[in-house]
Amino acid sequence: MRVAFIGIGNMGSPMAGHIVKGGHDVTVYDSDADRVSRFASSNGCRGARTPADLRDSELVITMLPDGHAVRSVMRGEAGLAPHLKHGALFIDMSSSDPVGTRTLGAELATLGIVMLDAPVSGAVPRATLGTLAIMIGGDDKPAIERARPILSLMGDRLFETGGLGSGHAMKSLNNYIAAATFAASAEALLIGQRFGLDPATMFDIINVSTGRSFISEVVMKEHVITGKFATGFTVGLLAKDVRIAADLGEAMNLDAPVLRLVRDRWALARDRLGATRDNAEAVKSWDEDLKDS
Ligand code: NAD
Repeated sequence: MRVAFIGIGNMGSPMAGHIVKGGHDVTVYDSDADRVSRFASSNGCRGARTPADLRDSELVITMLPDGHAVRSVMRGEAGLAPHLKHGALFIDMSSSDPVGTRTLGAELATLGIVMLDAPVSGAVPRATLGTLAIMIGGDDKPAIERARPILSLMGDRLFETGGLGSGHAMKSLNNYIAAATFAASAEALLIGQRFGLDPATMFDIINVSTGRSFISEVVMKEHVITGKFATGFTVGLLAKDVRIAADLGEAMNLDAPVLRLVRDRWALARDRLGATRDNAEAVKSWDEDLKDS
């Protein structure tokens, strides 16, 4: 299949690599032209200079920071959508906002393009292994069946979540839980340390106790306690995901005070550290609050 892959960053690069290895005719595009050349030469595939250069694709996949970036590559004369052939399939695998996804899907439908959302969970290690969890939203069942063989190259747990945008809604709620768990674990760590508890011992205990989570087992143990801070997931992207979940809560008319607080804590971490720092470094930004008080 002729596949265009747009956004070859931390996640997109290994994901696109699996599609190339799967024997498909892949062309990649990214606003960072050096990244495109490096990926194309090391994976033996083609690189595009503009989104419109991808006009012959049968399937277009985006793995971009957010829905805003997705709309910017798809919409308008300089965007890809007006140049694609009728019947092309478009899958947004980024963690975008579900309401924007529905709006974009309706616009693309007028051009004869079917849109699915298929965000992922599992971070860079599982993107590299091709074992991501994938949440598929879409209104067109045959299109989902067409997408499955390609999605299966990147993930080994594929879930259908409902209509278009439902994958993005699901993804933001998952990341809200992870972000809340991290915030609680970080506060426990900072309080415990002040009391004289050893951080490594604390997480050895938590990891065999009821406070255990992905955050305690992987993020705290491998990235915070070791001082490595290299999850491959930036604080800016996680703050964006929690904001999407909070916007969704508001759109559903649900009073969600914990969600609002978690959103604000991650926005603060992003503003203090800078959006491109590793999300695990948020613990450092919140340490300031304890010192100030
Ligand atoms: P990243 O910043 O590493 O990669 C994004 C890529 O998009 C970069 O190469 C950038 O140059 C490119 N880009 C940005 N704007 C563009 C535009 N307008 N046109 C073309 N290219 C553009 O981000 P990532 O960590 O790979 O995350 C991508 C998406 O996946 C995000 O929505 C993120 O929330 C989600 N996600 C990330 C992880 C993770 O662990 N990193 C896990 C699950 C989901």
